[in-house]
Amino acid sequence: MYLSPFLSLIIPVYNEEGNVHLLTEAITTSLQGYRYEIIFIDDGSTDNTKKEIILLNNPDIVLIELKRNYGQSSALAAGIAQAKGSYIITLDGDLQNDPSDIKMMLNIAIHEQWDLVTGIRQKRKDTFIRTLPSKIANYIIRKSTNLHITDAGCALKVMTAETAKSIPLYGELHRFIALNAHMDGARITEVPVKHHARKYGASKYGLGRTFKVINDLLLIIFQKKYLQKPLYLFGNIGMILFCSGLFINVYLLLIKLLGSDIGNRPLLLLGTLLILVGIQFFTIGIVTDLLMRTYYESQEKTPYKIRKTITFEKTKEPSLHVS
Ligand code: UDP
Ligand code: MG
Repeated sequence: MYLSPFLSLIIPVYNEEGNVHLLTEAITTSLQGYRYEIIFIDDGSTDNTKKEIILLNNPDIVLIELKRNYGQSSALAAGIAQAKGSYIITLDGDLQNDPSDIKMMLNIAIHEQWDLVTGIRQKRKDTFIRTLPSKIANYIIRKSTNLHITDAGCALKVMTAETAKSIPLYGELHRFIALNAHMDGARITEVPVKHHARKYGASKYGLGRTFKVINDLLLIIFQKKYLQKPLYLFGNIGMILFCSGLFINVYLLLIKLLGSDIGNRPLLLLGTLLILVGIQFFTIGIVTDLLMRTYYESQEKTPYKIRKTITFEKTKEPSLHVS
């Protein structure tokens, strides 16, 4: 008999008292026959969310209560750290994602061997203010990395435990789980999933997230591309500026030698400035490069991620012994 893997459902909840009961019911119905745990992370709710979860008295539920409201990313991180499943499934606690999609996503992940399967919300039921930042972010991701993602913000994801546990989750990084995983070499695919309008409770985000999303995105792309060799970025900019400055000043020197007066030329100022700024950039490159070395070497971080290591059993003694 095919034994399904143990699943960990990670659900951050912040003031979702009207939803937890219905969500648990929906999960129980759609995951019949599966072995799973539902990890609710109560992210400092000020309503009856915690009480409602305790009232469910369900042995499949693990409730992690955070000391205060830390935000969705940290809540997810707290849940993933305690997850015991070999597959980790993240979803929102507000019933906007539909647990009936989980089985289909899991099957795709297992049979097609994806590290991460993420949803594309069909007929997304959110306001324009909510969808605009996502559209910009998805566009920047598509243009600046080779990850073709249509809906990075979809919370419903199925991933292997190994993938989930190696993704950095702090600040607002939950929106970039797929991007971070992709940049670490995970195999990712997208599938259409259902999306519903919120019935109970309110969305926790406003327009302010647009700028956060874009800042985070630029930082991630910068980090992943240049974290190991910042000198390549700063050094190249420095070199271009320095050479332009040098070119300008050599030109001025030549016309000075030919008898022109260059003391009142704004170009002289520009040339000198470019040379100085160029040197500055180069030095910043060297300093950040040294910083990165300390980062990798002192914390024993590896600059690579291994998918697996394959070894072969020795079946017979080698006939020729070379020493
Ligand atoms: N959430 C959380 N902590 C927060 C904000 C949100 O745990 O500080 C949870 C929230 O309860 C929900 C999920 O994260 O389960 C997504 O939040 P929301 O529905 O407000 O976001 P939206 O759907 O508007 O993007
Ligand atoms: Mg929501």
